[in-house]
Amino acid sequence: MYWISTRSGGSVVSVVEQNSVVSVNYTGTFSDSGEIFDTNIGGEPLVFLVGHGNMIEGFEQEMLGAAIGETRQFTLTPERAYGHRDDAAVQPIPKSQFPESMELEAGMVLGAQSDQGPIQFSVVEVGDDFVTVDFNHQMAGHTLHFSVEVVAVREATSDEQAHGHAHGPGHHHH
Ligand code: ZN
Repeated sequence: MYWISTRSGGSVVSVVEQNSVVSVNYTGTFSDSGEIFDTNIGGEPLVFLVGHGNMIEGFEQEMLGAAIGETRQFTLTPERAYGHRDDAAVQPIPKSQFPESMELEAGMVLGAQSDQGPIQFSVVEVGDDFVTVDFNHQMAGHTLHFSVEVVAVREATSDEQAHGHAHGPGHHHH
């Protein structure tokens, strides 16, 4: 005789689903060059709450249903990752709008406050009167390949679901 243990009033989470808190080891590479753009290998697993916009949607969709110990490989085209590049997002800005002391250089990434909150942009070209900047996301236009191993899965607490993020060691509230 054997017993199957059950828990009443809540399901035992064993696969990645909405409102799971998932720990993963991952490596992301650009599909065209094979260059690694991000990985946690050699560090702590990445922990995130599924279904609250903490990760790009395509990433979460590909991980749904994955079990602990499972590794998934998938490729996200720009429309499922950070979108396509928009030429209209490359704009000249009068040099006078930058702090005089700032040493502007092509390739540098800068942050600024806008009406819509913090924004990031990169400097494309520095002219005499104008600075050409690019507001496209750094990852826009790229097809991304991911290899993701599920290390742990648990059900989110009601606090985590209310806050929209995972809690864990080192989690601080502001
Ligand atoms: Zn919180």
